[in-house]
Amino acid sequence: MRKKIVAGNWKMNKNLQEGIELAKELNTVLSADRPNCDVVICTPFIHLASVAPLLDASVIGLGAENCADKASGAYTGEVSAEMVKSTGAQYVILGHSERRSYYHETPEILKEKIKLALANNLKVIFCIGEVLEEREAGKQNEVVKGQLEGSLFDLSAEQFSQIILAYEPVWAIGTGKTATAEQAEEMHAYIRGVIAEKFGADAAENVSILYGGSCKPSNAKELFAKPDVDGGLIGGAALKAADFKGIIDAWK
Ligand code: PEP
Repeated sequence: MRKKIVAGNWKMNKNLQEGIELAKELNTVLSADRPNCDVVICTPFIHLASVAPLLDASVIGLGAENCADKASGAYTGEVSAEMVKSTGAQYVILGHSERRSYYHETPEILKEKIKLALANNLKVIFCIGEVLEEREAGKQNEVVKGQLEGSLFDLSAEQFSQIILAYEPVWAIGTGKTATAEQAEEMHAYIRGVIAEKFGADAAENVSILYGGSCKPSNAKELFAKPDVDGGLIGGAALKAADFKGIIDAWK
């Protein structure tokens, strides 16, 4: 049975003190009313080591939002997968559309990051999704398949079992414009088919595919009710404990 997951992506929000407060609040609220799904918070690098000991790992997992495409050495300002792991984090988001577009992360760069993350026993939340013009041109399937092929297709089936996919149509991220539950389901089912072709039926059945893009308490239930939507990757609504909890409770 594949996992249901709600993961928060804090992006470049919250200073250290604010991040600690939010992590503590989430830990208290979710320990008192345990979720029916896996919950992960992905924070800026500087928060990880301080937040890790505050979380009950049986209730909330911790992840980074990125890691370097090099193992170690003279790469000023970079943070390696090994460093992320050493904080106590268990996950890393890779391939977010903001990294692809603002920091020019190519499929080849992402391939290196994924390999290093997996080699350091981090689970990867790998983001894929089309921009508006691609959807308007009816090219969303082609684009998403290309992103999967470009960064994941040389993994072994065992390595692939450590991947969580997040379908995030770029036109829905931070825009307030959510994909309809039908649009999400159509794409998630397509993605599962692509994975089945490459890695086999079991891998496709077992991979969690999260939806991301303006997911909030008011639309999470409808999205998560779809058979191929296994949860959400949440940006804006992950920054307030009540909103994030509202999305987590969509699984109840
Ligand atoms: C995201 O960036 O991963 C995301 C889904 O953002 P938002 O929920 O704010 O659209």
